[in-house]
Amino acid sequence: MERNTVVKLKLTAVRDLSASTREFDFSCDAGAKLSFSAGQFYRFVFTDDAGEFERSYSICNFDASVSSGIMTPQLVISQVANGRATRLLFGDKAGLPGLEARVTGPFGRLTLPEKLPPRIFLVATSVGIAPYMPILAALEPALAAGDTEVILMFGIRDQSEFLYQNHLTRLAREFDNFRLHVCSSREQLPVTEAVHRHHGYVQEAVKSYVPTAETGLWYLCGNPSMIDEVYAMLKQAGLGVRHVIREKYVFAKQVASKSAGPTAEQKKLIAEKLKKFQS
Ligand SMILES: Cc1cc2nc3c(=O)[nH]c(=O)nc-3n(C[C@H](O)[C@H](O)[C@H](O)COP(=O)(O)OP(=O)(O)OC[C@H]3O[C@@H](n4cnc5c(N)ncnc54)[C@H](O)[C@@H]3O)c2cc1C
Repeated sequence: MERNTVVKLKLTAVRDLSASTREFDFSCDAGAKLSFSAGQFYRFVFTDDAGEFERSYSICNFDASVSSGIMTPQLVISQVANGRATRLLFGDKAGLPGLEARVTGPFGRLTLPEKLPPRIFLVATSVGIAPYMPILAALEPALAAGDTEVILMFGIRDQSEFLYQNHLTRLAREFDNFRLHVCSSREQLPVTEAVHRHHGYVQEAVKSYVPTAETGLWYLCGNPSMIDEVYAMLKQAGLGVRHVIREKYVFAKQVASKSAGPTAEQKKLIAEKLKKFQS
């Protein structure tokens, strides 16, 4: 598919990953497939009773589609109180397949460089782990060959949010050059072989790497405040945009307030007020 073509999708399957997080599989209209590089996202347009609205989601496929660069989207989405997409996607699971969306993409700079650096730091909070699943799949051959070292730091609130635990711990057991730090802010995590556990925010794990920060390329994804704080720590250590790639999961309203001008209705109101003021 050409970049930014609009494609229609249908939801085909929904799986609960935790009480507040679900995995969603889509199929494309007329058997079309979408292109992507590990780490990218698509913009989804959904329709509800109030009309159309757009939300961005990282592509979380971590199977053979990563090496082919061709996929039908698999998403991991966490519910948000009073969220518009949440209302649509977290209803009765059985009634969801068939839900339609239009997508454009792929977008995003959270992708791997052609020449891998000696160390790659991946920092995520919650569903910010989504783009790292295909990234880790893309890195497996380099991990096996000993070409790079990967340090994943994953911030969650409690054990139930440790998404993809089996897959991530398998990687940590299999590769000495893959280190997995899981930081839980609300409770101590049970001891798990191959996982470095921390009680607190993901910034705690980052601190231990700051003295050697310049030895690698950093990826930050998820909660915007976490990203600002970690970026400030890395900037203090002398790093800048060349060494740190950020993807903030900003809410749609923040995006809208930055990019959109007044609506037609607001423009009409402004014109009426101006007319009154000038007369
Ligand atoms: C590039 C990019 C990639 C993204 N990828 C993913 C992804 O893979 N998985 C995923 O789950 N989300 C992802 N998001 C976030 C996603 O686009 C939506 O913002 C999210 O699903 C909430 O949408 P909603 O319609 O349910 O809530 P909205 O209707 O947008 O928000 C409802 C209310 O909740 C607040 N709110 C919204 N989101 C949050 C939040 N996360 N925490 C606390 N309060 C919030 C809003 O300010 C608002 O008051 C991504 C965002 C971006 C920009």
